[in-house]
Amino acid sequence: MAPAPDADGAPRPAPVAPAPVAPASVEPAPVAPASVATRPRAGTPAVVARGLTKRFGETTAVDGIDLEVAPGESFGLLGPNGAGKSTTMRMIGAVSSRSGGDLRVLGLDPDTHGPEIRSQLGVVPQEDNLDTELRARENLVVYGRYFGLSRRVCAERAAELLAFAQLEDKAEAKVDSLSGGMKRRLTIARALINEPRVLMLDEPTTGLDPQARHVLWDRLFRLKERGTTLVLTTHHMDEAEQLCDRLVVVDHGRIMAEGSPAELIRRWSTREVVELRFGSDRNAEAALRLDGLADRVEVLPDRVLLYTDDGEALLARVADRGLHPTTSLVRRSSLEDVFLRLTGRSLVE
Ligand code: ADP
Repeated sequence: MAPAPDADGAPRPAPVAPAPVAPASVEPAPVAPASVATRPRAGTPAVVARGLTKRFGETTAVDGIDLEVAPGESFGLLGPNGAGKSTTMRMIGAVSSRSGGDLRVLGLDPDTHGPEIRSQLGVVPQEDNLDTELRARENLVVYGRYFGLSRRVCAERAAELLAFAQLEDKAEAKVDSLSGGMKRRLTIARALINEPRVLMLDEPTTGLDPQARHVLWDRLFRLKERGTTLVLTTHHMDEAEQLCDRLVVVDHGRIMAEGSPAELIRRWSTREVVELRFGSDRNAEAALRLDGLADRVEVLPDRVLLYTDDGEALLARVADRGLHPTTSLVRRSSLEDVFLRLTGRSLVE
């Protein structure tokens, strides 16, 4: 996403304060470097939201959320499509004004300090919006120039970032010739050209194959190790588990729970889960005969989930009842189970 504001594409109620929204533009507009007065003090939270709300006409996309992201933290918004994650990211990124509540990004109000905030953020949008006419290296250099960086600095940083993104040998390749994973890494490299204090990633690996996802996770993990603050959205629980120090589970624009992946699992699930498959037309009937065996039973269309702290022991008791599932699996609880518990729905569509 370009650092310039763009339009929401929907009528908006009047914001609580005059919104500094510039006309939509295809190219990123130059952004003001943060002055001494607008540079955050050490320890200032990267993001603080209180009662943050966004309405599009009748739709309340973000419904009064509270969150706080500490500097250096890797923070995630986990939830299904339509939960309000991207809308929240756009408000944090100072490209969409809020309808209500309070928001501070790097200590600044996006309503009054949009350009200063945008100059200190790196944004990786859901859809890659690289310039397909340009080569990989040129994409980085041109983007850096929008931030007012000199040609020399742009060239130096582009070389470093191409190496970081493992794209050195693709520096002179046209964007169109790159694979999906390479384009994503190039988009991340581009978002880092202004040495942002916070890197925002909307669904960073959606649509990539498993190997490309792992390469990307590795790069993001390195950024995290270097102390870059990451704010990301995902509807993949494995991604949240891999990358997030702390996350909020969002559904229908509201925060359902907050904590580290391990804390959330401890609080909202059991240690282990037994997955039993009896055949799609027999799961519900078999579940009736499992009554009392587990702390909790969930019947999904394709399987029955039994929540317990000791999966193997439970499996033995299933056999004692004369039940013989076609397949059985004992696994540790995951964020998927947390989501199911909190919303009664599965994250996996
Ligand atoms: P997520 O990123 O979690 O998939 P979004 O933030 O994109 O969710 O969307 C949340 C809700 O807000 C959805 O119901 C979506 O249709 C609605 N929405 C998002 N952007 C707009 C818009 N520009 N105009 C109208 N409705 C929107």
